[in-house]
Amino acid sequence: MEIAKNIKDFGSELPDGVKLVAVSKFHPVEALREAYDAGQRIFGESRVQEIQLKHRLMPADVQWHFIGHLQTNKVRALVPYVALIHSIDSERLLACVDSEAKRIGRTVNVLLQLHVAQEETKFGFSPEECIAFAESGAIAQMDGVRVCGVMGMATNTDDEAQVRREFRIIKETFDTLKRRFFADADCFKEISMGMSDDYRIAIEEGSTLVRIGTSIFGERQY
Ligand SMILES: *Cc1c(COP(=O)(O)O)cnc(C)c1O
Repeated sequence: MEIAKNIKDFGSELPDGVKLVAVSKFHPVEALREAYDAGQRIFGESRVQEIQLKHRLMPADVQWHFIGHLQTNKVRALVPYVALIHSIDSERLLACVDSEAKRIGRTVNVLLQLHVAQEETKFGFSPEECIAFAESGAIAQMDGVRVCGVMGMATNTDDEAQVRREFRIIKETFDTLKRRFFADADCFKEISMGMSDDYRIAIEEGSTLVRIGTSIFGERQY
C-alpha cells in the first residue's frame, strides 16, 4: 500500500470539518510511522495493549483514539494515553472511565456509541436508551469525562439506502442530544461515522470523524 499517498489523498478529499482517524489496528508501527510522516496525527486502535505498545514507539504528538469494545478491567491501562474513546457503550463503562480519569487527574474525551445496525454487534446504546441516559442526569455528575458526541456503525451491506438510513438515525440522535442536553457544551460536536466502504455516505449525512483502516493501510494481518 502507498500509505503516504493514501493519507494525502484523504487529506484533499475530506471536506472541512471532517477529520480522518487512521485506523491502524493490527498494523505494524512502521506503517503508522509512514502515515505520521505524511502528516497524520490521529490514529485509531481497538486493543488497549496495542495502544500501550505503539504509544511508546510513536512520537508524543500522536492522538490515540480508542474505537473497539472496551472492557472495564482495561480502562486503567488506557486512560493515561487516550485522546478520545469512541466506544462508550454502557453507563457502567462511562462511570468507570470517569472514576479512573479523576484518580489520575485527567479529563477524558468520550463519545457515546449508538447501536443502529441490523447485525451481530451487540454493543452500544439504542437511540432511546442513549437519550434516556442523558436525561437521567448521570452524565452531568461525571466531571472526569467530557462527552464530545456520538459514534456509530452502519450495517455492512451493499444496500446504500439502508446505510444512509442508519447514518441518518445517528445524526438525528446527535441532534436530539445536542438540543436537549448539550446545547451549552461546545465540546459536544462530534459524529463519528463512516469506514472505508461507507465514509462518503457518512459524510453526506453529517459525519465529523471518519474511521478509515483498509483504504489507508490495506488488509489487516490477523
Ligand atoms: C476496524 C474498524 C474501522 C476501520 O474499518 P475499515 O473498513 O478497515 O476502514 C472503523 N471503525 C471501527 C469501529 C473498527 O473496528
